Amino acid sequence: MSSLGKTLAVATVISMVAAPSVAGSSASRKAYEGARGQYFALKDKKERQQYRHNWLKVIAAFADLTGQYPEAPEAPSAIYTAAELWSDLWRVSRRESDLDQALAGYERVVHLYPNSNLADDALWQRSQLFLYHVKDRGAAARAVREILSSYANGDMSSQAAALAKELSDVPVAKEEVEEEETTGKMVGRRDDRGPIPEVTSIKHWSNPDYTRVAVYLTGPALARSGNVPEGAGKPARVYVDIEKARLSKKVATATVVQDELLQGVRSGQYKAATVRVVLDLEATVKHRVMTMENPYRVVIDAFATDAAAKITPNSGKPLGPDAAETPVVKTTVSKTANDAAAGAIDTELGGRHVVIDPGHGGRDGGACGPGKSSEKDITLAIGREVAGLLKKEGVAVSLTRTADKAIALEERTAFANRANADIFVSIHANSHRSAMVQGIETYYLNVTDDRYSLRLAAVENQTNEEQVSDLQLILADLATKVNTDESVALARRVQRSLMKGAKAKNPRTRDLGVKASLFYVLLGARMPSILVEIGFLSHKHEGKLLTQSAYQKTTAKAIADGVLAHLKAPAETPVN
Ligand SMILES: [Zn+2]
Repeated sequence: MSSLGKTLAVATVISMVAAPSVAGSSASRKAYEGARGQYFALKDKKERQQYRHNWLKVIAAFADLTGQYPEAPEAPSAIYTAAELWSDLWRVSRRESDLDQALAGYERVVHLYPNSNLADDALWQRSQLFLYHVKDRGAAARAVREILSSYANGDMSSQAAALAKELSDVPVAKEEVEEEETTGKMVGRRDDRGPIPEVTSIKHWSNPDYTRVAVYLTGPALARSGNVPEGAGKPARVYVDIEKARLSKKVATATVVQDELLQGVRSGQYKAATVRVVLDLEATVKHRVMTMENPYRVVIDAFATDAAAKITPNSGKPLGPDAAETPVVKTTVSKTANDAAAGAIDTELGGRHVVIDPGHGGRDGGACGPGKSSEKDITLAIGREVAGLLKKEGVAVSLTRTADKAIALEERTAFANRANADIFVSIHANSHRSAMVQGIETYYLNVTDDRYSLRLAAVENQTNEEQVSDLQLILADLATKVNTDESVALARRVQRSLMKGAKAKNPRTRDLGVKASLFYVLLGARMPSILVEIGFLSHKHEGKLLTQSAYQKTTAKAIADGVLAHLKAPAETPVN
């Protein structure tokens, strides 16, 4: 088949343009070689080409590579080759959907890997498919014009110029969408005293209802966002401009996400001092942008507006590149809400997994206590103690930190999700302007109109109250509030246990109850999750107790008892 012969020629080029194996991981190189092997096996056997599944198998091999190693030097070639295979398959099958797949694949090369040597080739392939097969001269013209504007020095420019001339009757689109001015309100703050902050990394996490993208910086930033509808052969997108910032060379300019909501994330130095981050959308989304500190970052959450785009919690979906970083053996399947509703009682603690999150750490000390004590040390001591007690009962336990180390709030939640934990408990200690205030309270994630709870969330989130109000809107947007009922039940258990333990040692402490608020560390957790405020460091007596090892052990025992009670009978909702 002549078209396959042509594909082979291009594939040889691909193997040459792909970075040498020393630059990539040997694993991605191996996956690429494996896919190429399958490719040649298909190419050599005419009878194999008669069956659709043989084509799909080879395409899947290339797609697996890009899914698993989106940052690998082989990734653009893999997407490109998969697009070529769709195109060749279409020549045999004449199925329109195969042609669409080919066009989408080439587009992905351009959008996700704009700096790849194959980006202009992909645009050229699009122009050919649009011109001769889709019969869309407008789209073909846009593709060749993009080669001329973005890849003028590439090897496709002379043939692109010739075709552009042929298509010169096609009117030029009025506006280049990437030049769109941002319209959203500005969030964050700027600090002009230091050097211009640098964007050092971009991460993403797929959650049941939304996808989170975090852009990490070396200093505080101002961010503003906007969106562009689908058009001109490009997907709909959300873009965020981070002002007074520079993009580090270390940051990948394009990352494949490929979940229900996002195709990928791109970034670039949009203007001299503005970094633009673009989310290429897979589905219609609403988005919110927040700036946070410790570490400095801009967090973009994209939410499904279409119920069909939702996935069920704990679906075992990979969480993006992070999922590979910390391999966690899945020890148990979380109880579903249905199990709980059916009154299923599980007394088997083996195989259950609890994640304990000692609040704060590193430069972020949290609240200050008597003497030189700080919240971060107290939460770590208690967290370790809780972990030890639960392990004794046969429960698997992980701590989000075991040392005095800074960890971003979203990393803590992602850690629990990766571990497929059954329960997530974040431990904090409180502080108040008035030294008279004391007591214990336990929180679960939900909207609230209680000013005190909102203010506390702002302190713990290290944002301002306005941004917490934005979080309220986010949560209201989420159609399914994952595990709220179970989180409330867990919160009641732990609060009751904490009060029992504390009253014995400190009869005057107050039961401040179980409450809802917008703690960012709980947003996105796929399991019942709570945040405990174990007492006020600002109170003379309670603060002193919290620094003492004996009282810390009492508190830890109380938390562990509450968690164990919940693991043994999650459906029971004690009335208090
Ligand atoms: Zn705290």
